[in-house]
Amino acid sequence: MKTATLEEITNLCIRRGFFFPSGKIYGGLSGFYDYGPLGVELRNEILNSWWNFFVRNREDIVGIHGSILTHPKTWEASGHTESFIDIIVKCTRCSSEFRADHLLEDKGIKITELTIENLRNLIKKHNIKCPICKGELSDPEPFNLMFQTYVGPKKTKANIAYLRPETAQLIFTNFKNIYISMRLKLPFGVAQIGKAFRNEISPRNFLFRVREFEQMEIEYFVNPHKLNDCPLFNEVKDTKINLLTAKLQENSVEKTIEITIEDAYEKGLITTKWHAYWIGKSIEWMLKIGLDATKIRVREHMKNELAHYAIQTFDIEYYFPDMGWKEIEGISNRGDYDLSRHQKFSGKDLTILDNDKKVIPYVIEPSFGLERIILALLTSSYREIDNRKVLSLKPFIAPIKAGVYPLIKKPEFIEKAREVYYLLREKINVFYDESGSIGKRYARADEIGVPLGITIDGETLENNTVTVRFRDTKQQIRIKLDNLWEDIKKILEE
Ligand code: AMP
Repeated sequence: MKTATLEEITNLCIRRGFFFPSGKIYGGLSGFYDYGPLGVELRNEILNSWWNFFVRNREDIVGIHGSILTHPKTWEASGHTESFIDIIVKCTRCSSEFRADHLLEDKGIKITELTIENLRNLIKKHNIKCPICKGELSDPEPFNLMFQTYVGPKKTKANIAYLRPETAQLIFTNFKNIYISMRLKLPFGVAQIGKAFRNEISPRNFLFRVREFEQMEIEYFVNPHKLNDCPLFNEVKDTKINLLTAKLQENSVEKTIEITIEDAYEKGLITTKWHAYWIGKSIEWMLKIGLDATKIRVREHMKNELAHYAIQTFDIEYYFPDMGWKEIEGISNRGDYDLSRHQKFSGKDLTILDNDKKVIPYVIEPSFGLERIILALLTSSYREIDNRKVLSLKPFIAPIKAGVYPLIKKPEFIEKAREVYYLLREKINVFYDESGSIGKRYARADEIGVPLGITIDGETLENNTVTVRFRDTKQQIRIKLDNLWEDIKKILEE
């Protein structure tokens, strides 16, 4: 069985209508992709699954949907105005711009510290030149990743606002509103799905590093004295993870240890129980939607890469054949950094009561990126089985659930097939296809992950049964039209 390269996935997505480079007819806008007809269905299924799993099916999490254009003070308080930077170098000959750490990584050079000083030294030591024209590179300098615009007609400093670079801060700025209006009690979480924008210096690897993407985030608030008081811990304690600790990395060990969530907590590798819990729950959801468990690892941030707000951070990384291990979700213990800073910058009291005592809660933040989850899913699901190209998505995630086909283009076959199509489309996303040989139609559907093919053939007209073909195995069964929906529903839920 052959796995797919990033190039194959990109081609599939563009050819079959999952994603299109944005503004392509005008030459494209680097770092932006539009969701096509299949992409938008896939997106909706993943977002629904996430929302059901993390919000609807729980008693302790509520949702919000915040503004995308945000008050500039938000980002002063959060530290983004000052610290949300990457380090840029420019070619002094062709003016191309690069992320300094990426240039070094591409040459296989390990970066121990992400400081301007260190990157400058490494560029000098390894004599790094512009990869495009071999020109000299400029001195590295900080580059803030936030997109800025003006609110209202005046283009003055006082009118500056930012496209949010993360959804999280809208939860913090609304914290008191949410707490009071929903009469919440600690511990509780607030979830949000929405767009985030980062002016990445060099967007690359298709959907992996883009400038506009969707985050699915939870801020889970806990009394700082009860970080290990997690009544839900049993749900995850036996989950096995492949863990790469900061210590292993500091000793240049890349090999993970296999350990249960409970042991990782007991041994102090994950320092709080609620943090360990959210690592377990995140992985549970990833496996539920069909990510390959063998390609998931949990990597702790080393001291020198921790974000300014973080006490401890773990990335859930996925193994991409062409890129290696890459972050698809970050799970941070942000302490009380954000709420304390917003309290300070706004002058508003953001403490809440827990057992009659005022506290500023700590927060554990699972932060998923939708596009990276989609890329991981497509990478692990697209394969060649006996020369067939198949996208083996789980039925509940697949953008289209079934295809309906008349075996031949005769009026009586077409009429029956249209009947079946109308019946099913009220329930699920289904398409009708009568063009080309039945083999070609199956192949087209397999490639975009349609789990079931329903074919109206000669026998249908005789005994009111249809053929149902399964995408992955090509197995075919006959089903009576009278209970078609009940049977299809059962199959799709399996
Ligand atoms: P971060 O706040 O950088 O930890 O980002 C949280 C999550 O957002 C990451 O785990 C990614 O899944 C996603 N993400 C961050 N930056 C990008 C980007 N440039 N393109 C696509 N997804 C991103």
